[in-house]
Parts: sequence; structure tokens; C-alpha cells
Amino acid sequence: MSRTYITVAIPYVNARPHVGYALELVQADVLARHLRARGDEVRFLGGTDDHALKNVLGAEAAGLAPQEFVDRNAAAFEALRGVLDISFDDFIRTSRDPRHPPGVERLWRACAARGDFYRQWYEGEYCVGCEQFYAPADLADGLCPEHHTPTETVAEENWFFRLSRYRDAIVDAIERGELAIVPDGYRNEVLAFLAGGLDDISVSRSNARARGWGIPVPDDPTQRIYVWWDALGNYITALDYGTDAARFDEWWRGADDRVHVIGKGILRFHAVYWPAILLSAGEPLPTKILVHPYLTAGGEKLSKSRGATADPADVVADVGTDALRWWFTRDVPRAADADFSVERVIARADEDLAHGVGNLVHRVTTMVHRLADGIAPPSRTVDHDDTTRAEFDASIRAYDYRRAVAAVRSEVDAANRAVEESRPWTLPRGSVALAAALGELLARARLVVELLDPIVPGVACRAAAALTPDAAGRLPSPTPLVPLLQGA
Ligand SMILES: [Zn+2]
Repeated sequence: MSRTYITVAIPYVNARPHVGYALELVQADVLARHLRARGDEVRFLGGTDDHALKNVLGAEAAGLAPQEFVDRNAAAFEALRGVLDISFDDFIRTSRDPRHPPGVERLWRACAARGDFYRQWYEGEYCVGCEQFYAPADLADGLCPEHHTPTETVAEENWFFRLSRYRDAIVDAIERGELAIVPDGYRNEVLAFLAGGLDDISVSRSNARARGWGIPVPDDPTQRIYVWWDALGNYITALDYGTDAARFDEWWRGADDRVHVIGKGILRFHAVYWPAILLSAGEPLPTKILVHPYLTAGGEKLSKSRGATADPADVVADVGTDALRWWFTRDVPRAADADFSVERVIARADEDLAHGVGNLVHRVTTMVHRLADGIAPPSRTVDHDDTTRAEFDASIRAYDYRRAVAAVRSEVDAANRAVEESRPWTLPRGSVALAAALGELLARARLVVELLDPIVPGVACRAAAALTPDAAGRLPSPTPLVPLLQGA
């Protein structure tokens, strides 16, 4: 049995969530649910990044105090847990959680004790949307390459972190596979970035520019800690790093896998800055960084700050949680952006969940009722079950969800073919042959349901109930499992 700690990025809460963030939550949740079902120990963390400068600017625009503003928006992010059926074990809000400030402060002091900070006057181009400085060469026609908006020239004295000191150690960790970055294209991107050398980074800002929001720099009340330092720290402050409690030993130092699920836009922060901070503090690195692409709508990036948004709560109100979870898992490629539309989600749900899985379960349970008075014969193990399970397991662990879904879909097809081949309705009532045929079909349907469980837990739960006999050995009366969405 292994122990896995899984996190998602904590989003800044300057607006309501969009469906691109829902993708990340669902992908991480599928992994967490799958590993738990396989008997692993799992701890799964979510949260919100409350200290971003963007939040302060959003609050100013809304005429609210920062705390009131972030509380209001963070509630919509936290509610996604229910909306999307996310199995978080813990949720941290950086401005509200008493575990967070002492943990960030401890992390800072650990790096300070290494001699990794110095003060320096700095002038550079800053994108508030990204919360980062850009070198002139990284700008796209003078604009932020991520947001396509003008940057702001910032000049002030800051604390700098000796990022450059950790370049070789990070390259080593990535090349030796101790820090896996998946898929490979993103690993190569990080290695190429590191090959160009690393500059030290500014990790604080003046109180004036921070508007007094965020965590003060220990022993320097004139500065606030850079929001990315603060936000990345959540992965360990939520494990009581600040008080060095047993949970940190158990779930960070003692985990077999420390997995961060993130979007491609914040790869550098997780694959370079965060490992450097941990190396400086003398703590273990993450073992895996799983990187997902972006969703687009009509080819445009979905983004809170760029207008093209789809609120996951609205989408789920239309199509249901499982339809959205299914589309994310089935159709979003590993490394290329996917174009989101409610129509696509509906088409896939109808094709695979209603017609594929729903019909299979309905068909099998109906036959048990018509041909065997509803009494479920003993489930018969099908030879290739373990091969299918192994393929599914390997695909999920490799963060290749489309391959995992392909294994489920071929299992649905195989079960439907088995119905046609065994033709149970032609077999004599009460015969051993009929019991064997129905037993095999039940086993096949149950395998499909088992595999579906981490992906579409609602559908899987209803299907499992439909396939579970009561104390008298009788299956529930067949009812349609997954309603069609088209035209609903
Ligand atoms: Zn930007």
C-alpha cells in the first residue's frame, strides 16, 4: 500500500470560477478516487489563493474591503466541491486558515537560515494578472504573453531569493525522474528553460504596492511576501508545516508520492520555483507534476480575466455533474488545448453514458428479470478482467485519461457483443447454461461500473445499485439509469 498526497493549484479569487478550473479539479479527483479504490492511502487538498494583488484590485473595483471581497468569491470556488463531486480531504483558504501564516513564515525563515535572501533594488515589467515579472524578451509585442495586456513598470527595493543556486539540483532531479513532469512535452519545456540559466527572483513587495494585503516578511514590516511564495506554501502549510505536527511527517516527508496537478500556464512556478524553495528549506521535492492543457471556447482561452467564461455551476445545472466529468476525462487531450462547448458535453454523455453504459446495465438487469425472475445468478469472473484493470490503472497513473476511458469503452462494447453472442433469451429457463450466460454478463457490467466509479461516481453509484441483489438475491426492477440530455 502506498501513500499519495494530491493537490490542485489554488486559484486567485478575483472573480467566479470558470470551467477550465473545473477540469483541473476533476482530473485530480479521478486520480484520488482511483488510488483510494485500489487501496492506497490518499490525502487530497484544494484551496484558494486569497493574497493575490489581483484580488486587492478586484476589491477596489468592487468598492469592498479585500477580505470581504475574497470571502465572497472564495465561497463559489469552495462550492465546486459539491457541484463537481470532488472528494477533497482538506481545503485551505490562505487568508482565513490559521495553519497558513505560521507555515509560510517558517518556510521563509528556513530559507533565510540557508542564506538564500538578499535585498536589492529592482526595476522590471510586472503583470498583475500573472503576478510575475517578465524579462523584456519574454513579452509579446510589449504585452504579457499570457494575458495580452500591458505590463506595469515596477521599481522598488525587494527581497530576492537565490533561485540560481538550485538550478543544477533541479535539473538533476528532473533528469533522474525523482521529479517527474508529465506529459513529456512539459518536462522538455522546463529543461529547456533551465538550460538557459536561472536568475534570482524578487520574493517580496512593498506594503504600499501590496496595499497592506498578504503576509508580512518576517523581521521586515515594510514588505509583504510575494504572493506566489505564499500560495505555493499552501501545499505544506495545510499539512501543519507551521507547527511541525505529525501530519507533515506523514503526508509530505513520509508520502510515497507528492503529486501536484496544475495548468500549463503555471508550470515554471511548480517545476522550478517551488522545488528551489523546498531544496532551500531542506524538504523533499514533489514526485510528480501533472500538467493539463487549457480549455478554449470557440478557440479563445477561457479565463477569469479575459471575459470568455463558463461558470461550472451553470454548466452542471444544465447537464449534470457526471456529463461534465465524463467529457473532461474522455475528450480533453493530454497536451493540446480542447475546445469546450455544452453541446459537445451533451453529445458525449448521450453517446457513452446513456446509450453505452446506461443501456448495457438496463439490458442485463432486464434479462435477469425476464429470464430468471430477477434472481441474480452468481457473478462469473471473466478471464481478461485483470488485464483490463491493469490497463486502466496504468493509464490513470500515467495521467493518460483518454487511454483509461478507451479501456472502459472497449469493455462496454465487449459486454454488448457478449449479449449478442450468448443470446440468453434462446437458452432454456432454469438451465445451467442460462445461469452461466447471465452470470457472465453481470460480471462484465460490474467491471464496467467498477472502472467508471472514479470518473462518474454518480452514474457508477446508481449502476452499482441496479446490479446489487437484495437479501433474497433479487435485483431491483430495471429503471433507466442515465437520461438522455439531447432535447431535454
Ligand atoms: Zn499576465
